[in-house]
Amino acid sequence: MKCWFCEKEARGVCAICGRAVCHEHGYILDQMTIAKSDTSTGVATYFKAYNVLKCKECRVEWETWEQGKKIVK
Ligand SMILES: [Zn+2]
Ligand SMILES: [Zn+2]
Repeated sequence: MKCWFCEKEARGVCAICGRAVCHEHGYILDQMTIAKSDTSTGVATYFKAYNVLKCKECRVEWETWEQGKKIVK
């Protein structure tokens, strides 16, 4: 498999978007948290991942929603 950004052999796959990346085009995210909350029970579940491989192209953004409305901070 080739890197998405260049013609080099890929060394891994981006954890967010799934693109294959070589050493040069991938970098490591220290920490990534995926939160899953259940409003009916009030239970929030957090999925934490460390040293996640990420490409430089896609973006990770946090969004906060309250009562069906997106809150812009
Ligand atoms: Zn590359
Ligand atoms: Zn990516």
